[in-house]
Amino acid sequence: MTGEQADIPPGTAVSRPHDTAADSSETAPPDRKTSVAVLVGGVGGARFLQGVRALLPDAEITAIVNVGDDVWMHGLRICPDLDTCMYTLGGGIDTERGWGRAGETWHAKEELAKYHAQPDWFGLGDRDIATHLVRTEMLRAGYPLSAVTEALCNRWQPGVRLVPVTDDRCETHVIISEPDNPGERRAIHFEEWWVRYRASVETHGFVTIGAEQATPAPNVTEIIDRADAVLMAPSNPVVSIGSILAVPGIRGALRTTSAKVVGLSPVIDGKPLRGMADECLTVIGVETSAEAIARHYGARSETGILDGWLIHSTDTAQVPGVEVRSVPLLMTDPAATAEMAREALDIAGVKP
Ligand code: GDP
Ligand code: CA
Repeated sequence: MTGEQADIPPGTAVSRPHDTAADSSETAPPDRKTSVAVLVGGVGGARFLQGVRALLPDAEITAIVNVGDDVWMHGLRICPDLDTCMYTLGGGIDTERGWGRAGETWHAKEELAKYHAQPDWFGLGDRDIATHLVRTEMLRAGYPLSAVTEALCNRWQPGVRLVPVTDDRCETHVIISEPDNPGERRAIHFEEWWVRYRASVETHGFVTIGAEQATPAPNVTEIIDRADAVLMAPSNPVVSIGSILAVPGIRGALRTTSAKVVGLSPVIDGKPLRGMADECLTVIGVETSAEAIARHYGARSETGILDGWLIHSTDTAQVPGVEVRSVPLLMTDPAATAEMAREALDIAGVKP
């Protein structure tokens, strides 16, 4: 017991921090900023955030970012989805590739190859390495990933609060048949499956290593709890949104928040827009369609997490208990994406 607690006479009513916060939200001034929480992965998530930010320049937008792709390589901690969001919103992304830094060079990667250093299949750019060096140094000094991310964002000023879903190591691994010996199974890191094998090995499932012990990063469940709307970006349903949902406490927060939870389909006309979401969905036995993904997430009125679901104008979907709307879902630019966000927020009852 701390001295401070010991000084409080027995029987004195003490308001816990939680109570104080609840009181202040009840008496919050009417001009309280609109608060929107968005679950995101990398490229699809980052592009969606650009639209949300364009639509709601004065709102408090928090992106709860997937960390399932995070990986140690050459002694560096790499957080692909956090970095894609940070660089995209901060104006530092290579817009052609969709990931990594604009104006990138690859000298360090070439030098590593000359040492035959493994892994050699991962694109580690020189500019990008600086981010990983700062992050790794801060992590080694004991800062949690959420604090490290905040520090990195001081430079990039993304205009959206980027929060890793958890500070704990919680990585997506993939169970595959050994390519040279198909009778043997082994688990490889998601990045190896995605980047090295392009998802083209016999695959049996995904596991989120560390999920059982993981807890949400500070304030993540509170942010979901107190948001005016919770949006699920059109990110990969399995290895982006699915890995976020694997962190204990997140699904519960989505199910109990008073805000509506509205998702956007990453699949149009039975195909993902980019990437290999279809391969991931097949592995978990879900059809690659806007309807099947929404049914996989499920209605909040039943045992799932969705109140609303946006599908592309040319698609159809019946999802019991979920309000489905079809609107253009192509994120061609932030203005078009802002219209997607406007529709999603409309289902949630939030007007920009
Ligand atoms: P990753 O971590 O970089 O793979 O990115 P995310 O998981 O955040 O997003 C990948 C998903 O974004 C893919 O499944 C794509 O289908 C989806 N996506 C990309 N561009 C668009 C778009 O313009 N519209 C929609 N609806 N989905 C998109
Ligand atoms: Ca990713």
